[in-house]
Amino acid sequence: MRKSIVAGNWKMNGTQAFAHHMSQAMNEHAQTLQGVEVVVSPPAVFLSHIQHVAESYSCAAQNAHSEQSGAYTGEISLAMLRDIGCKYVLVGHSERRDMFDETEAFISRKVTAAIEVGIVPILCVGESLEQRNIGQANAVVKRQVLSALQGLDFSSSTDSLVIAYEPIWAIGTGETATPEQAQEVHAYVRSVLADNISADMAQRTRILYGGSVSASTAQSLFKNTDIDGGLVGGASLKIEDFKIICSAAADS
Ligand code: PEP
Repeated sequence: MRKSIVAGNWKMNGTQAFAHHMSQAMNEHAQTLQGVEVVVSPPAVFLSHIQHVAESYSCAAQNAHSEQSGAYTGEISLAMLRDIGCKYVLVGHSERRDMFDETEAFISRKVTAAIEVGIVPILCVGESLEQRNIGQANAVVKRQVLSALQGLDFSSSTDSLVIAYEPIWAIGTGETATPEQAQEVHAYVRSVLADNISADMAQRTRILYGGSVSASTAQSLFKNTDIDGGLVGGASLKIEDFKIICSAAADS
């Protein structure tokens, strides 16, 4: 039985006051929920504080470099994340792939480095609308997953990876994938893991859906067999909506 995750990606939004309110609200709300792990992913500047006051939620960094230290001005390392007790890191978000030219090779190095230091990567994959329209959604997602995981050994590690299926056309657009569309790709991703890594690893890996998840769409998405929760952008900035989404994952 996989425990659901709902992760709130604030992107480049928020203030100290918002971080304070959100951490209080999540400490209160998450402790009332069984069967879901609530994850908060604030901008790096707030991460240490949010992690420090966390009682009933976990934290994810929105990004980290693959090197552990050195002359990389402006970057933060996975070793630093581990040092503050952060559990997760987003890797391969489409905004980083597209706006910051992150290559599949770099993403693969980050996933490897995260697992090596004991931070769980939330590997984001997903196709563009153009790719979906020409029937390439599965092929794109398979390539992104396998290139990110190449060379890794999952035989002894449990829960060392989370995948987020995030169709680019659904991110920040208000156009959520239908539960059927999402379930189909999630089941396909799980089959890719089973065929290329192991059946056991495929069954253990949590696969989240991301792309305009809202308080009204969460339940119909999360009740599907292969959808183990959500990566939530815009709606994670609305405290009441985010609470409803977390509750929907707990009930699924
Ligand atoms: C995201 O940032 O990963 C995301 C899914 O955003 P939104 O929920 O706003 O589409």
